[in-house]
Amino acid sequence: MNEDRAILITGGTVVPMIGRRWQRADVLVVGNRIAEIGQGVAVPTGCTRLDAREALVLPGFVQTHVHVVQSLARHRAEGRPLLRWLRERIWPYEAALSPDEVDAAARLGIGELLGGGTTSALDMGTTHSQDVVFEAAAEMGIRLTSGKAMMDVGDEVPDALKEDTARSLEDSERLGRRWHGALDGRLRYALAPRFVLSCTEQLLRGAAELSRRHGFMLHTHASENPDETRAVRELTGRGSVAYLAMLGLAGEATVLAHCVHLDDDEVAGLAATRTGVAHCPGSNLKLASGIADVPRLLAAGVRVGLGADGPPCNNRLSIFHEMALAGTLHNLRHGAGAVDAWTVLELATWRGAQVLGLEGQVGRLAPGTLADITVLGCESWAAEPLADPADVVVFGLGVESVRHVLVDGTVVVEHGQLLTGDAAHIRGRARAAGAAVARRLGWS
Ligand SMILES: [Zn+2]
Repeated sequence: MNEDRAILITGGTVVPMIGRRWQRADVLVVGNRIAEIGQGVAVPTGCTRLDAREALVLPGFVQTHVHVVQSLARHRAEGRPLLRWLRERIWPYEAALSPDEVDAAARLGIGELLGGGTTSALDMGTTHSQDVVFEAAAEMGIRLTSGKAMMDVGDEVPDALKEDTARSLEDSERLGRRWHGALDGRLRYALAPRFVLSCTEQLLRGAAELSRRHGFMLHTHASENPDETRAVRELTGRGSVAYLAMLGLAGEATVLAHCVHLDDDEVAGLAATRTGVAHCPGSNLKLASGIADVPRLLAAGVRVGLGADGPPCNNRLSIFHEMALAGTLHNLRHGAGAVDAWTVLELATWRGAQVLGLEGQVGRLAPGTLADITVLGCESWAAEPLADPADVVVFGLGVESVRHVLVDGTVVVEHGQLLTGDAAHIRGRARAAGAAVARRLGWS
């Protein structure tokens, strides 16, 4: 570990995401925590310096819903709505993956997240080889909460993904025991039934029970698309969110991706139970799913974060893409300024941390918090003229602005270069693996 190591991030404009203020200040990191923020910080001997001149220093970004194992299907699942996208592309793809391909996909996804300034993510894996995802995350330094996708029923689900209910629960419990809390809590487990249409009631109840027993997170998709929502209603007599809540999938440990098609009772229920919602505007547009009514959710007091979802439905894992969409999309329904830039930045930082149960640990910069930090250089055309940093970050910057990234006090990206993996090798391997999977599946 790095208890004694000190890093000084010097000369930047710090945006701590505590209120709507910013200041010129240095940030001193000792071990895995922020020790001090201010001017004239006493610098320990042997301290490493990171240059943040002409840069904004923010909490590392938090994404509340991604699928890193889907990375090799990027650019190969175009032009389909959700259920066809799943049945024709995503499930056959996930069913075809070897453990080595899961590793290649996970490293491509994690590299993209870290390189884009995302330090924490909640991830849904695939059904098999989930240990491989955690091993990649351990090595590459991201703060990851993840879990194998659980499926035990459903039309056109490949046999390789359709598990026996008890086996799915047993394997999830084994994975949770191995990974939840590993590396000082940098890795955590989330039970991840895929969605109502691919899970029996018994599987969903079992996942909720394991979450209560072990303290694992619960993560699923809910009310994403009109056809899915209609099918769930026919099957259960309820909306997805209401049905999941009835089975115990609600509360502070639960994160529901999408929540596009909700009735008033479901919105009230999400707020009352403090259930987290992952808003994924890029994915919802790509799959023509609809627009989650984020202003309505926020006004009701629902916990909301942002997520890019999977590379095949976005096609990038950029928090900047999601932020720009979240800051503009809701104007269509609610008028200009519906979700202002500061609120968007909150969704990408401390509100996302709250959804993940990491509030007070990450998502804000303050002495004592974990040192998950993203430094954004402002030497780009769209950054100028510099103004309120929230507007600059949300509407003017992109992944190319990411200069330095720290996770848990370790520098994982420096001057835009990934330090915890060989980026060229990861991308080259992903290109070959992606082509091999596409060939096996007969994709043109
Ligand atoms: Zn998803």
